[in-house]
Amino acid sequence: MPVPTLILVTHPVVGTTDGRTDDDHEARSQPGFVLADAALPQLSVLDLGVTRGDGVFETVMVSEGRAPAIDAHLGRFASSAALLDLPRPDLDVWRRAVLAAIDAHPPAPVLAVKLVLTRGIESGAPGAGVPTAWVAAQAARDFTLQRENGIRVVTLDRGYRHDVAATSPWLLQGAKTLSYAINAAALREAARRGADDVIFTSSDGFVLEAPTASVLLREGNRFSTPAPELGILPGTTQRRVFEFLKVYGYETDAVRLRASELGRADALWLLSSVRQAVAVVELDGSAVGFDRELTAQLNEHLAASGR
Ligand code: PLP
Repeated sequence: MPVPTLILVTHPVVGTTDGRTDDDHEARSQPGFVLADAALPQLSVLDLGVTRGDGVFETVMVSEGRAPAIDAHLGRFASSAALLDLPRPDLDVWRRAVLAAIDAHPPAPVLAVKLVLTRGIESGAPGAGVPTAWVAAQAARDFTLQRENGIRVVTLDRGYRHDVAATSPWLLQGAKTLSYAINAAALREAARRGADDVIFTSSDGFVLEAPTASVLLREGNRFSTPAPELGILPGTTQRRVFEFLKVYGYETDAVRLRASELGRADALWLLSSVRQAVAVVELDGSAVGFDRELTAQLNEHLAASGR
């Protein structure tokens, strides 16, 4: 795999971490980031992002040099940081850093651009208290086969009730944190069961999300996705898919879906930025309707639209 294009974000948050203030005109004229070599060591072994997964991230899809959902990703990045009580990201700096990473990367049909903000070095060590931040752009994996053929999915209980975000906000459900070990473990469990992916359900039987994607369900002309209050990530791809479906006169809704409704759906998809829309063709061993044409249209829209 080629080395990613790396940008270290030197002024990632709003405020005075290095003595500058928001109103400091001179400071605002600085880019707040610097190009770096991803082949060299850049991160401290004492960084809390590494030692505790204490930080947030986003992955932005860039198609032919354009990042159609960048605003939505930046907004979610700021919300995730707020849920973790991290300092507020300076979104102007991050936006420019993302665009600079795209410019600096050799041309590629699709890039995955990752934004990472950690709590920084462990307390007591030199440099503690300053967030660590970077942007890395890399040619994306090719998901053509999954888009064309669909995927097999199993449902797995996430072990929390549907209202966990309200009852236990410290569990950070709905924040895109660096702690994705559980998500990766769920995908390994899916592989052990002969499947490609997972749909998590709540302990009280509601549909949640996939480890790295949102769920979309079709019944006739109505398309639904689980509501974000269920402690799931509000998907930027799901939002773009709803915009597309509304233009064609379909009904769209963010609701509470019972896990039993999945088996009765006319079609199901998993939606995410880089893989885009993939149809679920088998759920817990049973076949699911596959709308090949609509899947292709969704993916065409997701790759083409925007800036
Ligand atoms: N849910 C989870 C847990 C995710 O990790 C992701 C993306 O990585 C999504 C949903 C889909 O979000 P998006 O469409 O913004 O990529």
